[in-house]
Amino acid sequence: ATATGTDVQDHDHHGIRQVLRELGVEATNAAWSTGLVWGGQGNAQTRAIHSPTDGKLIGSVAFATVDDYEQVVQKAQEAFQTWRTVPAPKRGEIVRQIGNKLREFKEPLGKLVSYEMGKILQEGLGEVQEMIDICDFAVGLSRQLHGFTMHSERPAHRMYEQYHPLGVVGIISAFNFPVAVWSWNAMLAAVCGDVSIWKPSEKTPLVAVAVQHIIKDVLRENELPEGIFNLVIGDAEIGAAMAADGRVPLVSATGSTRMGKKVGEVVGARLGRALLELGGNNAIILTQHADLEIAIRAIVFGAVGTAGQRCTTTRRVIIHESIFEDVKARLLKIYPNLPIGHPLQDGKLVGPLIDTDAVQAFTKALEAVQKEGGKLLIGGEVLSGAGYETGTYVTPALVEANNAYHTVQEETFAPILYLIRYSGDVENAITIQNGVRQGLSSSIFTLNMREAEAFLAHTGSDCGIANVNIGTSGAEIGGAFGGEKETGGGRESGSDAWRVYMRRQTNTINYSTQLPLAQGIKFDF
Ligand code: NAD
Repeated sequence: ATATGTDVQDHDHHGIRQVLRELGVEATNAAWSTGLVWGGQGNAQTRAIHSPTDGKLIGSVAFATVDDYEQVVQKAQEAFQTWRTVPAPKRGEIVRQIGNKLREFKEPLGKLVSYEMGKILQEGLGEVQEMIDICDFAVGLSRQLHGFTMHSERPAHRMYEQYHPLGVVGIISAFNFPVAVWSWNAMLAAVCGDVSIWKPSEKTPLVAVAVQHIIKDVLRENELPEGIFNLVIGDAEIGAAMAADGRVPLVSATGSTRMGKKVGEVVGARLGRALLELGGNNAIILTQHADLEIAIRAIVFGAVGTAGQRCTTTRRVIIHESIFEDVKARLLKIYPNLPIGHPLQDGKLVGPLIDTDAVQAFTKALEAVQKEGGKLLIGGEVLSGAGYETGTYVTPALVEANNAYHTVQEETFAPILYLIRYSGDVENAITIQNGVRQGLSSSIFTLNMREAEAFLAHTGSDCGIANVNIGTSGAEIGGAFGGEKETGGGRESGSDAWRVYMRRQTNTINYSTQLPLAQGIKFDF
């Protein structure tokens, strides 16, 4: 262990008990009961949820059974009958109120995100800000949701397309963005006239309960059915039930590629829609024309931020051989001084991994890559001692590696950064960058216009996100978010991502006294 310990004593040290009280989620060992349909009423099991930051019990949560899920779907279907008749801008008004409530609760909710998931407070607050931003975006959208009009080939005919609500949207979310991903989906779905059922990660159920409390008040104040936003706390089996459920026309699933392949197959078999947001293996290319001052900042934030547990985490840096040693030396200066510790403590930049399984995956990947010939330059230790009793804190690792290594081809959800050398021109770097099965986020650092444009061209990066002089992580909500290949192909959040939450209809209206047929077909009788 190299990093220093923390002085964290207990919950109250960071005011977590107060936070739970403020959010209406009191710290207790009893099953949570929100009065809302979120499952766990009947013979559900309760499960203790411990913080990855200090191992302390935050609370126990009732896990829903498939029977509970059944009740929730019925509630959702009922609520859809009402919600779809509310005009879209009025639905936007409800989302505006939700955004305002989130503003009110930003501090405690951000803190709970940090404590339950383990990201530093700045990032916890940032996650809630992202929820607020998507609410604002969705409010504006609620007055748009526009289709095109076209010119008909037939005289006195009008042709256009419109978008109608789809129905019940299933949202399966991952632990690492325990609330923001839900809001990307649920807020767009809501303005589109859909109702949603949220199955959060079983690792982070308390923040989901807190969010449900917040929005429940908005629904009640507006005398709207609570089934517009539903929450089912449960394991993968609930997600699997949703994937198989023909009453759920769209399943939006965020998580590992392994999960996405299963969900995609089940949803596909019933010809439903699946929006898949899966793993990444994101790279930054550094050419000999890179501004290294900003590049290094982006690499460090991208690689160790959220302790390497973002889907957009920088996992590979592809460095021109002429600057390889310089980049390595700069990173080796920064890595030993990264403040690792309790994410609610001021000044810490690297919190814990979500659990000891994740730590094991981290250690195993480092062993494996070294067997393949990789060179561990720094990091890779599991911290112990005061402040690190949970065994979930690790020192971020830097590894000199080859892109072809099996380990490098996989997404290990932990702070491991592979340094990969390239020679020749930027096309060689792009080939390496594209040489993985995942296709989420990518960036290039260069001040050379030709290199930047080559990277952005159709022959360049094959990822859903391609940035110039910005790192791979930390996207804004205004753009469509998602990736290609094994990342699943789905797009969420900004731009026209809303379209997948609606059904498209083409309408042709004849206001003439004739009935001309398309393609000039004659059918006289
Ligand atoms: P995970 O796949 O273990 O779990 C994600 C969710 O899927 C959980 O709610 C889980 O209960 C559910 N699930 C698991 N198996 C299922 C099945 N067979 N059917 C239905 N639901 C099932 O992922 P995780 O460890 O929580 O999150 C980390 C992963 O998520 C990483 O791979 C990361 O890259 C990815 N991620 C992707 C994005 C993105 O937008 N592309 C965003 C965040 C996280």
